[in-house]
Amino acid sequence: MPPMDADQLRQYLEFYRDLGVKTLYQRAAAGEAGESPAGGPGADQGVRPTMAAAASSQESGAIPASASSAVTARFGSNAQPVANAPGSDRSPDREGGVAPNSTISTQGEALIDILQDIGDCKRCRLHAGRHKIVFGVGNEHSPLVFVGEGPGADEDAQGIPFVGRAGQLLTQMIEGTARKEGIPLTRADVYICNVVKCRPPDNRAPEPDEMEICGQFLYRQLVAIAPKAICVLGGTAAKAITGHKEGVTKMRGKWFQWRDIPVMVTYHPSFLLRGYNQEAKREAWEDLKKVLHFVYD
Ligand code: URA
Repeated sequence: MPPMDADQLRQYLEFYRDLGVKTLYQRAAAGEAGESPAGGPGADQGVRPTMAAAASSQESGAIPASASSAVTARFGSNAQPVANAPGSDRSPDREGGVAPNSTISTQGEALIDILQDIGDCKRCRLHAGRHKIVFGVGNEHSPLVFVGEGPGADEDAQGIPFVGRAGQLLTQMIEGTARKEGIPLTRADVYICNVVKCRPPDNRAPEPDEMEICGQFLYRQLVAIAPKAICVLGGTAAKAITGHKEGVTKMRGKWFQWRDIPVMVTYHPSFLLRGYNQEAKREAWEDLKKVLHFVYD
């Protein structure tokens, strides 16, 4: 924490209080723990509590084992930002980002079918260090899907996405913004998943080939759910979904499109937890407001 006077300290504490962070952490010394550069899976690691932190306790999701098939996904063509609003007539590339192997039929698939196909997945190197596959959680028929980068330690342990500190902030952002905007919505009403389903080692960002291999499952999840909008959290997921190469600061707050579905890009909650950045916080809340009103008005 930088040296600060009483007024700065008050603002700093208010910032975290508004984020719903009741326990402040002191960053570990350099080299003590890894930190994901993109605000991703493990970006909320590498800190140690200065006070006792409340541990989250959620049931783990059981993953049925079944036959697996070696398949690959295609990433890549650039989606374009869609003027200002979803449904505008500017015509983006509709196949930005995650795409299926052409041999897979995704017609009428349910999430359980995709989960069964993932099985005890060993399609990429990430399987070696995982404890649990983190498939996704929430309402299978949700009109809104949040997509993060990949599981961190808490998610890997529980098999549920966004249950660590970043996850608690995401829940707070969704429910707090909805409440303020008069939209009756809880975390359980939306669907939450990641680009990669296994935790990358040392909390690093997923490699392109890992995202490509796992991206087909995200593709199938999105096709199965067919939400009204997708909210992408952070730069890595934004690139994976839209195929767009700009940084998250340039992409956030704008509408993109994945197939026919409007995509809003915003900051990863880990990024907001990582440093005092009042402007980024305000922007993330604005982005969320936009997407919630688009989906639920
Ligand atoms: N970060 C992510 O991107 N996904 C999670 O599930 C948790 C942290």
